[in-house]
Amino acid sequence: MQTAIPWFRKRGILLIFAFIIFGATSAWADEGKIISAIDAATVSCKMVSEKIFEWRELGQQEFKSSALLMEELRKLGFKVTGNLKVPPDLVKDGIAKTAFRAELAGKGPGPTITIMLEYDALANGHSCGHNLIAASGLLAAAGLAKVMPETPGRLLVIGTPDEERGSMGGGKVALLEGGHFEGSDVVFITHPQDRWSLDQRLLAIKRTFFTFKGKAAHAALAPHKGISALDAVILTFNAIDMLREHVRQDVRIHIIVTKGGINVNVVPELAQAEFAVRALDTATMEETFRRVVNCARGAELATGAKLEFKEPRVYLTAPIAVPPLTMAVRNQLRSLGIADEEVKDFADFASSDLGRVGFFHPTVNLWFKIAPEGVAPHTDAFREAAASEEGWKATVIAGKAIALAAYDLLNNPEKVKQIREKFKQLKEKEGK
Ligand SMILES: [Zn+2]
Repeated sequence: MQTAIPWFRKRGILLIFAFIIFGATSAWADEGKIISAIDAATVSCKMVSEKIFEWRELGQQEFKSSALLMEELRKLGFKVTGNLKVPPDLVKDGIAKTAFRAELAGKGPGPTITIMLEYDALANGHSCGHNLIAASGLLAAAGLAKVMPETPGRLLVIGTPDEERGSMGGGKVALLEGGHFEGSDVVFITHPQDRWSLDQRLLAIKRTFFTFKGKAAHAALAPHKGISALDAVILTFNAIDMLREHVRQDVRIHIIVTKGGINVNVVPELAQAEFAVRALDTATMEETFRRVVNCARGAELATGAKLEFKEPRVYLTAPIAVPPLTMAVRNQLRSLGIADEEVKDFADFASSDLGRVGFFHPTVNLWFKIAPEGVAPHTDAFREAAASEEGWKATVIAGKAIALAAYDLLNNPEKVKQIREKFKQLKEKEGK
């Protein structure tokens, strides 16, 4: 028996169907548009990548690379600003000359999605493949630029120079402090690797110097009149060695002697050690740092050599991994043919100024595979991979994945809200 449905309900059901069919079709159509725009941009973006690779500009010297990227973004319709103002104690003259901020507004209010580009090289060229970070971000920008006129929200592309050399201050930290990330709801970045990975773990790091001032004396005639600053450094080393057993396994403490006396027949008046503390979360790093400082204070008391020590002006935090954001990229990877089994975690970690961005804004970094597993960044072999065909194919997939994930978020402010709430909760829980 058929159930009678009142006309207004029938119309309602029809409307829902129409919405589902046309709504979904239009989202698919737009995703298709993004993919075709990226495919169409691969030739020009590959050239950009090759030029950046060839120029191999070091941190804060990336003049040609940043100019080229700004020009490409202008062609895509972005409003681009270079020479960004930053704190003068972090970058000379207070102007980040090779940084830029590009903005493209959508059809109305909505989330602000930021994509970061890196383009600095190392002494042995682009052995960290930052030319491909720039290219994948540019590809994503090209795809999204096509749909922004019909999409709510705003797209920002931030050129973040000097990751390798200036990560403790000159790169993203300076741009954050200069306010250039303000308004970013979610931040995306990619990085080449020896595997596909969405492992967001990076180590927080703080480093500074211990300087001990003792009293010089003839080492044979009057050692009893001297105070050895070097003894204080050695005692600090010993105390830290004992501390190492009582910290979590991810904690790293590095220490080197930078000054240890001048003449062997003089009790060292001045000695200095540089040290760094790292951990997978910022709170644990801070706590370990405090304990290391206490090791030096104990050495000061034991030897009588006066300790001078200053809290560092800048340090790197660990990013807060936000599972729903990571999942947003993983879903796109799957749709682009990268199976879940291919997405792998890391066993060991380093630090990056990316960690600072990821401590203040929900951030996701997509590691994309350009080299066989075991080929590490910063080596000559990795540099070759950053110029290879295989590397380029992965770069295009990475660009597509972040473009599609960003597009999904631009159209779903509710998802962005959930990501930001989760981020806040996880940050509050950190280190507990
Ligand atoms: Zn790198």
